[in-house]
Amino acid sequence: MAELRQDIVTGSWVDVATDRALRPTDFGKPCEMTTPDDIEKCPFCPGHEIMTPLEVLAIRPNDGEPNTPGWQVRVFPNKFPAFQSGEPTLESEPLFPRRTADGSHEVIIHSPDHNARLATMPPDEVELVLRVYRHRYRANAEDAHVRCVHIILNSGREAGASLEHSHSQLFGVPLVPPLLQQELAGASWYHTRQGKCVFCRMISSEMDMLRRVVAKNRSFVAITPFASKLPFEVWIVPRTHQESFDMIDDTQLEEFALMLRDILGLYNDRFGDVPFNYYIHSAPTDGSEYPYYHWHLELIPKLTTMGGFELGTSMWINVTTPEHAADLLTGRIEKGMGAL
Ligand SMILES: [Zn+2]
Ligand SMILES: [Zn+2]
Ligand SMILES: [Zn+2]
Repeated sequence: MAELRQDIVTGSWVDVATDRALRPTDFGKPCEMTTPDDIEKCPFCPGHEIMTPLEVLAIRPNDGEPNTPGWQVRVFPNKFPAFQSGEPTLESEPLFPRRTADGSHEVIIHSPDHNARLATMPPDEVELVLRVYRHRYRANAEDAHVRCVHIILNSGREAGASLEHSHSQLFGVPLVPPLLQQELAGASWYHTRQGKCVFCRMISSEMDMLRRVVAKNRSFVAITPFASKLPFEVWIVPRTHQESFDMIDDTQLEEFALMLRDILGLYNDRFGDVPFNYYIHSAPTDGSEYPYYHWHLELIPKLTTMGGFELGTSMWINVTTPEHAADLLTGRIEKGMGAL
């Protein structure tokens, strides 16, 4: 069972999910599954469906029974959930506020191929993964416990992946997490004073300057944000105003897949098979309107480690300018030139 505990000093909530310590990576133990023998044991490979909880969705091009092979994308609840509904209510004590970690936690397997990677999968297969994101986002947003649907990908052990087989995770979170709260507050403040969406203004300005634009297509632009937290951080932002990811239409989905694949390809070109994280920031799903917010995906290659300064301050020291990162990613300067 997972529970949420609130720091009485800062007001921050922490998810305490002790079952997750049972994951194969158990506190940093190696989990690389590269030998055929290990692939035999992979719970995400076709034929091993019995090793996972029952699926909640699977795309089966040739039909077939649930929880059997023949799927292209497969979704099931996380075996070690950080959020889960139906647990008993927890009582708080004075000074020690806590609550049940109500919500959901799902795993989305991108492909039956153990070694498939989004960067090199055919575009229509990446699009299918994103289509499943949209479907599961909408389904989880219906849950009364869920106030925010947060979709992430951890790729590579250094980026927090517990299994090598490419997969994303969806969290149905029963509160609005601090970073999203900060973005909502900033976007609301800007909208009140300027009458415009701050994200729309930002991408319009970036498109005029082109200094930090890494890629663009009809529906999306990818930039290295002006105040990037970490080296080679990239945001993919829809070019038309849209507060929530579930509003993405089919045309945009196709172009989102191409853009995501392109950016991951740029990382591969520059850094090889680098570990990375991405996550989608989208308006809360609590029934309120957030017309001032604009969803986006943030992508961060794992090139540095968080140190005491970052942990102690929640402030980042970035050793690469986003302008240099954009130049290197787009090939305006050659790999290896200039200091990172
Ligand atoms: Zn596998
Ligand atoms: Zn906007
Ligand atoms: Zn964001």
